[in-house]
Amino acid sequence: MRSATFAIFAPMTTTQPLTATDILTQLVSYPIFGGDGNLAITAWIKSYLEEHGVAYQVVPDESGTKEAIHCRIGPAADGGIILSGHLDVVPVVGQPWNTDPFELTLQGDKLYARGSCDMKGFVACCLASIPVFQAAKLTRPVYFAFSFDEEIGCMAGDLVAGAIRDFYAEKPAGAIIGEPSMLQPMVGQKGIMVYTTTVHGSQGHSSRIKQEVDAIHEAARLIIWLEDKMDALIAAGRTDDRFHPNHTSIHVGTVQGGSAFNIIANKCSFDWDFRNIPMDDAAEIFAEFEAYCQERVTLRRTVYPDFAIEHVPMHPAVPPLDTPENAPIVDLVKKISGVQQTSTVSYAAEAGQFSNAGFPAVICGPGDIAQAHRANEFVAVEQLEGCLTMLANLAKTLS
Ligand SMILES: [Zn+2]
Repeated sequence: MRSATFAIFAPMTTTQPLTATDILTQLVSYPIFGGDGNLAITAWIKSYLEEHGVAYQVVPDESGTKEAIHCRIGPAADGGIILSGHLDVVPVVGQPWNTDPFELTLQGDKLYARGSCDMKGFVACCLASIPVFQAAKLTRPVYFAFSFDEEIGCMAGDLVAGAIRDFYAEKPAGAIIGEPSMLQPMVGQKGIMVYTTTVHGSQGHSSRIKQEVDAIHEAARLIIWLEDKMDALIAAGRTDDRFHPNHTSIHVGTVQGGSAFNIIANKCSFDWDFRNIPMDDAAEIFAEFEAYCQERVTLRRTVYPDFAIEHVPMHPAVPPLDTPENAPIVDLVKKISGVQQTSTVSYAAEAGQFSNAGFPAVICGPGDIAQAHRANEFVAVEQLEGCLTMLANLAKTLS
C-alpha cells in the first residue's frame, strides 16, 4: 500500500511543485522511529533538495545508519533564521488507529498519520516553501536543520546545531523549532534528564541485616533524598509560574530489587526523571545527589567493602529553554505568526540545545501537542496552511 502511494509521487521531474500535503504524504510513509536508521527518509529529502537546486550538508551519527541534514537558502549573510525539525516519530504499537498510520489520510479537515503533527507537518511546510524562499529577494538566509532520534532524548539536537555553527562563516540570528504549538510562539521549555540508579549491596540471611548492606534499604534513602530535594527547591521559592507544574519535578518511576523477604538484597535499581525549570541547574542538583551517594558509599563500605552506587543516563541531559521576551527572535516569530501572546511548553524539544549553541530559539509549529504520540494523530489542514503563511511572512521579513 505504501509503495503504491509512493509511486504516485516518486517521479519529481514534473513541473508542478509538490504541495505541503504531497510532501507530507511522502514523509509519513517512512515508519522511522526514534533510534532507527533514517537514511531512507533523508534520501527522499536530499533528492527533493537537489531537484530544487539546494546544496545541503549531511551530519552522520557514529553508526552511519542515520544522519541529520542542514542547508541554507539565500545569501551568505549574517542574521539568517534556522528552521528546525526532527524526522523520527514515536511508535504506534498497541495504539488503536482507525487508519494506516503511515498513509496520510484526509478526513474532514484533518490529515491523519503518525508524525503528521509531531513533526513532519512542519518539515513538509519548510520543503514546500523552498520556491517561495527562492523567489523572494532574501537579504538574510533561511536554514533548514532536520535531525534524528529526537523522540528518544533529543539525541541529535546538539549535533545539528553545532554543525550549523561550525560550517557556515556567517552567523544565523536565531532558530524556530517547529514542534506543535498551534503556531503560537513558545519561549520556554523545561529541561529533562533520565537516569537508572543501581545500588550494589551484599547478600545474606535477613537476620544478618547489621552485618550486611541491603541494597533496597540504601536505595530507599536515595529515593527519599530525591523527593526531599524537590520539596526543598519548592520551599526555597524556586518556582516559575509560566510552567505547569511551576517547579522542578523529580520522580521515581520504577524500582527493582530483592528476591525474598528473608534474603538481604544485593541489588536494587530505580529509574527516575528530573524535569527542571530554567532557573534550576540540572548538573548542579545531580552533583549534590552524587555527593550524597558518595557519603553513603563511604559509610557503608565500612561494613561491605564492595558497596557501590552507579548512575546510567538514558540520554544526555536536555537543557531547558528560556528565551527573553525582548529577544529579537521573539519579535520576529510574533510578527510572522501574527500571534502576540507567548507561552511555554511542558515537553522537551531541541530548542534549548539550539539556544545553547548560540541561536536564540522559539518553538512555533503547526498542530496541537495534544494530538501527538497517540492513536489517530492528526494535523488540521488549516494549521498547515497557517504554517505556510508564516513561512511566506518569514521570506518577506528576510527580504
Ligand atoms: Zn516532536
